[in-house]
Amino acid sequence: MAVRFDVITLFPELFAPFQTVGVTRRAFESRAVDMRLWPLRDHAEGVYRRVDDRPFGGGPGMVMLVEPLVRCMRAIRADQSAGGAPRLPVILFSPAGKPLTQQRVQQLAEGPGAVLLCGRYEGIDQRFIDAHVDEEVSMGDYVLSGGELPALTLMDAVARLQPGVLHDAASHEQDSFSDGLLDCPHYSRPEVLSVPAQGDEPGVEAAVPDVLLSGHHAKIARWRREQQLAITARRRPELIDAARARGELSKKDEDFLSQLTL
Ligand code: SAM
Repeated sequence: MAVRFDVITLFPELFAPFQTVGVTRRAFESRAVDMRLWPLRDHAEGVYRRVDDRPFGGGPGMVMLVEPLVRCMRAIRADQSAGGAPRLPVILFSPAGKPLTQQRVQQLAEGPGAVLLCGRYEGIDQRFIDAHVDEEVSMGDYVLSGGELPALTLMDAVARLQPGVLHDAASHEQDSFSDGLLDCPHYSRPEVLSVPAQGDEPGVEAAVPDVLLSGHHAKIARWRREQQLAITARRRPELIDAARARGELSKKDEDFLSQLTL
């Protein structure tokens, strides 16, 4: 069954290219992911179809109104039950949410889907959040102008985990975070890269690490594991601690880490 996303947005046009290129196109064509866009303005009333108003208590910016959101949610719930879909949880994108992780993406990829609520302006009237939102998700400690890019990010991460969407199924298994560590470096042709000197710039010769050309699968796997450990220990040491706490570091891994200069 497809993972279904009902996206509430003021800017549905931002989602069009997502359905026509690369991995995400394949996810839609193979019906692994079913994205339904719900333009919020369709649920607003009056000549001006207002979806926002000034905040009580004063201050800058506008707040997204409860009523159009409630009408939109009603339409989504009706559509979900008409299509035999379960009542999907509502995810609001917000800088105040829990940072999105690969683990959460994996859970969503294996589940029935979600309603994705894209905020705009200063955000959404808290009373709608209290009554309808199940989870708040953040993309990081910075502020975007809307929740559309977060929604696209989440759906992209879910789409590439769907069976048959990536050409090589093993590819996401070696991605960063899938085993709790960052990914190792990758190399392709040519074996030796020669960049001739130009002006004051010295020439560069860079060779692919020998082990990758050895054909020795066990040695290559060990080299990749050690590269992952080294990069993770240097850049995100907290991920090493977490992997250790989960019992995922072998004696060999610990020996390697203990002699590593950070
Ligand atoms: N006043 C809000 C604050 O300071 O937290 C920022 C509102 S922002 C301009 C408009 C919308 O963009 C938010 O409602 C949210 O949906 C989305 N957004 C912005 N930054 C985000 C982030 N880091 N993670 C997830 N969503 C974000």
